Amino acid sequence: MDADIGIIGLGTMGSMTMWQLAKAGISVIGFEQFGIGHDRSAAGGESRIFRTAYKEGSNYVPLLKDAYKLWRELERESGNRLLTLTNGLIIGSPDTSEMKNVIKSIQEYDLDHEILNREEALNRYPQHRLQADEQIIIDKLSGYLRPQLSIVSAVQRARELGAEIYSHTAVNHIKSESDGVSINAGGEVFKVRKVLITAGPWAVNFMRDLAEFMDVRRLVNAWFLPRKAENFNEKKFPVFTRESEGFYYYGFPSVDGDMVKIGMFTTEKSRISTPDSLNRAISMEELAAFTELVNKDLPGLYPDPSRVNSYMEIYTADRHPIVGTSPGDDQIIYLAGFSGHGFKLAPVMGKIGAELALNGVTDYQIDSFSPERFMKARLI
Ligand SMILES: Cc1cc2nc3c(=O)[nH]c(=O)nc-3n(C[C@H](O)[C@H](O)[C@H](O)COP(=O)(O)OP(=O)(O)OC[C@H]3O[C@@H](n4cnc5c(N)ncnc54)[C@H](O)[C@@H]3O)c2cc1C
Repeated sequence: MDADIGIIGLGTMGSMTMWQLAKAGISVIGFEQFGIGHDRSAAGGESRIFRTAYKEGSNYVPLLKDAYKLWRELERESGNRLLTLTNGLIIGSPDTSEMKNVIKSIQEYDLDHEILNREEALNRYPQHRLQADEQIIIDKLSGYLRPQLSIVSAVQRARELGAEIYSHTAVNHIKSESDGVSINAGGEVFKVRKVLITAGPWAVNFMRDLAEFMDVRRLVNAWFLPRKAENFNEKKFPVFTRESEGFYYYGFPSVDGDMVKIGMFTTEKSRISTPDSLNRAISMEELAAFTELVNKDLPGLYPDPSRVNSYMEIYTADRHPIVGTSPGDDQIIYLAGFSGHGFKLAPVMGKIGAELALNGVTDYQIDSFSPERFMKARLI
């Protein structure tokens, strides 16, 4: 055996799983097709929101609370500042299912929060132009993460603890055998006991059994200059998510004293056929959509983006990740399909991935992420 555990893809989930395994003293080997901390897949673009009052479901809250602790642990171990709490604004009409889910999370887990009616919200956060029916819920355990620095920090820490890292080394294929899994990468064959698939947008190449339940999507981020920079610093302009007139978007304070980043949630139109076909050029139509949104809702920003870029991510059919042992092969563990909201969860997902690889089980409640849910859907 070249190592006990092999990891395919050292981006968000792979780096954190490697850190957890190395901490546990397990021999682990990881492969990354690009450089560590690159911005060519799901983790690029400078910032990611951390939030706890969760519109995607209250079952995520215990995971998020542990993720928070692990982010702080990684900060201590690496000496790098990764998570900055700013509060988080959740903006929308109280009638939407997302706002109802946020309230459910708050109530079930007694989360620290504030609810501002429209008038209070406009006084406190005049940067946002609100519709007549909109309110703001403030999630107190919310802020932004530094994605690429987080990945580099986790990989570096894992290396210090004995992990073996192959960057710029694409895995071509894996083969499960009676006594472990062989990994064909960079012209060599490596043998490990178990393999974790953390290949992000490329995961589908290693999860053919579930390919029909996943699609790769392109996401565009745009950066805007403020008319008055001090109004958009992290004290005055917390991270936010907003549903306005059926349209979802999110934003960040200026993290470098300069530009404010805005991102839009995906639509059916964002699907791309393969990760290798990602078009990084931004169309005039996409630029116009951002300009229209800023003109409508964020009058303190100049409406023409000064920087734009595109990234990608795998979405599953139900927008929840696939975390668990492969249904047909207990030597292979899936950690994929994070559907646009996985970054904040990464260290706890790394812990879960490590536990699944070592023991085949975890105490975390992950039934709703199991690969089998899609297998059952196929049978029905
Ligand atoms: C624009 C955008 C904004 C987002 N905003 C947020 C947010 O605010 N908050 C939040 O929590 N989440 C957010 N997300 C989601 C979050 O970033 C993702 O869920 C998370 O990064 C997915 O991690 P991953 O490990 O699956 O993929 P990745 O981080 O992309 O890692 C996969 C890695 O595998 C490597 N790889 C693939 N195939 C191979 C191979 N054959 N051999 C070797 N290496 C390989 C890739 O190069 C890559 O490095 C956002 C996503 C995007 C795209």
